[in-house]
Amino acid sequence: MTAINFPDVDYGARIDRARTEMARRGLDALLLSVGSDLPYLTGYEAMPLERLTMGVITPTDSTLVVPQLEAPRVVDRGCFDVIPWAETEDPVGIVQGLMGGATAAIGAQTWSLFLVRLQQAAPGVTFSDATDVMKSLRTIKDVEEIELLRRAGAAVDRVVGRLRSMRFSGQSEAALARQVMEMTVEEGHDVATFHIVASGPNAASPHHEPAGREIVDGDCVVVDFGGRFGGYCSDTTRTFHVGEPTAEYAEAFSALHAAQLAGTAAAGPGVVAEDIDRASRCVLAEAGWGEWFIHRLGHGIGLDGHEDPYLVEGNKEVLQPGMAFSIEPGIYVPDKWGMRIEDIVVCTEDGRESLNTSPRDLAIVE
Ligand code: ZN
Ligand code: ZN
Repeated sequence: MTAINFPDVDYGARIDRARTEMARRGLDALLLSVGSDLPYLTGYEAMPLERLTMGVITPTDSTLVVPQLEAPRVVDRGCFDVIPWAETEDPVGIVQGLMGGATAAIGAQTWSLFLVRLQQAAPGVTFSDATDVMKSLRTIKDVEEIELLRRAGAAVDRVVGRLRSMRFSGQSEAALARQVMEMTVEEGHDVATFHIVASGPNAASPHHEPAGREIVDGDCVVVDFGGRFGGYCSDTTRTFHVGEPTAEYAEAFSALHAAQLAGTAAAGPGVVAEDIDRASRCVLAEAGWGEWFIHRLGHGIGLDGHEDPYLVEGNKEVLQPGMAFSIEPGIYVPDKWGMRIEDIVVCTEDGRESLNTSPRDLAIVE
């Protein structure tokens, strides 16, 4: 696990907002372990290990229970106590002692091992899933969060700029993916978290894992990548072509480009999430490519690469200023080719802001 430099923001205010949500829902304790909910409230990310790390928020106290050997990693934010536990101590007992009350919401990514032990240690407590509590806090980003997403977006855009002048043919997908990763870190990310390089027929698989295939003249190449910047995620996709594309590919790409713009233009405050998906999908359907757009239009993004809100048929959630999400239509023709364009977009008071502004055209490379 790479150390992430979480920003120095007012975590105390976030914990207070969590307490307001807890009161509204009649919760006596909020228990957060692995995942992004804990760093959102404390600036500390739990190691995903068999040693328990758990933030315990009650109406009066907030405490981070952490393995003693990891305690030196904790940055004092002035708004929670730290209880380091030694190898011979029982962390579940310590958490149970801090909880009190009869109802507790627990982070969705907490290992079931610890939930089961807590249930055994505190049989009178009713446990629920903390997802909704945390979603209500995390979905709408504040100005500091949006600035980190903006800087993350600018960093991956610089990588795209460098890619546009690179030679693709003769390289394996894996070799190009390694360079994408290195450039993602060079441009300011704490860590590169994923890198899809899908060439030729492999591009028909949206989540293709780059392998040994050598990129050759006439290939399309979908590059989808991102990392974490001050804890916040970047995620962008651009499509490249080695040499000039066929007429069919060029025609499909212009429909895709129009669909991406239509999705972005549809986003804004008060708009229903599924309507944005539909606005983009209609463009591809009318151009005859609808059946090959096989995934939702987008996902929310923040401390997690995929989080609420999801832009998908059936999601009636209404967009509000501060929500951040991807707009990423694609066309995937099995065994032939694929293409995708992806930007991160933030809903603003009067519309939207694209956090990725690198050219969206089909980049012709050597
Ligand atoms: Zn992506
Ligand atoms: Zn994405």
